[in-house]
Amino acid sequence: MLCLFCNLSNQFNTIEHIIPESLGNNDLILRKEVCDSCQKHFSHVENYVLSKTPIGFWRTILGIKSKHHKLPKIDFAKPTKNKGRFPDSHAANDNISFESQEDFSTAIFIPDDKTISDYKGRFKYVLTPRVLNELGRFLGKIGVELICLHDAQMARSGLFDEIRKYARYGSLKEIWPIFHFSRGSIEDLISYDASGNEVKEKVNCYSYSINQISSYTILRLTVGTDNWCICLNDMFPTPEIRNLFLPHNLNLIWYFERRMASRTR
Ligand SMILES: [Zn+2]
Repeated sequence: MLCLFCNLSNQFNTIEHIIPESLGNNDLILRKEVCDSCQKHFSHVENYVLSKTPIGFWRTILGIKSKHHKLPKIDFAKPTKNKGRFPDSHAANDNISFESQEDFSTAIFIPDDKTISDYKGRFKYVLTPRVLNELGRFLGKIGVELICLHDAQMARSGLFDEIRKYARYGSLKEIWPIFHFSRGSIEDLISYDASGNEVKEKVNCYSYSINQISSYTILRLTVGTDNWCICLNDMFPTPEIRNLFLPHNLNLIWYFERRMASRTR
């Protein structure tokens, strides 16, 4: 079989985790579908998503350890200068960071020139073009791999050519739009198993589904109370997809090229 993403007959020695192990996934895997070289490439996208986006924030708050049993942390500091095609720096973004502790609490680090009272329980995080681009590629990869798990031919079909390329090589023209809605509360994510002599805490960091509405195939990935969606077979679906998750409000997140260009000048 040729690789799902690069279409080459490369080495297939390592197992592909559809959702990162660092989010707690150890059974949702693909074998001999994604080559070692593509996996290595995706690990850069995953590192960014887990260290710089709300997905990494939830992982830290929920204390999901890495595969090497390390406690998670997240640093929302932005670079001071913009590099590359997709800007990542933004003056309004708070350079706050969070670190999960052994006692199940979370430490919050606030920059020197600010005080905790400035935050009033809120901080500002900007979804820059870079963040959207990396999140889109991360979601696209997961979506195509979930389809591949059930139908390897379908995942390789022309329907998903664009998103496979986008996930693997990044955008050449535009950022793939993503969608978001919020649902539930942090308490919903923690359940207790009281069977036997001890009470065990079980944390459900993520859930996912592949949804179909008319001709659109949509991945929903929930991490914490954030629900991220991406249309896998059409970059610009009609607003009809808003009916999928009613009564929740599906918000489009996107930067179009002209806006991005003006910001980088
Ligand atoms: Zn490959």
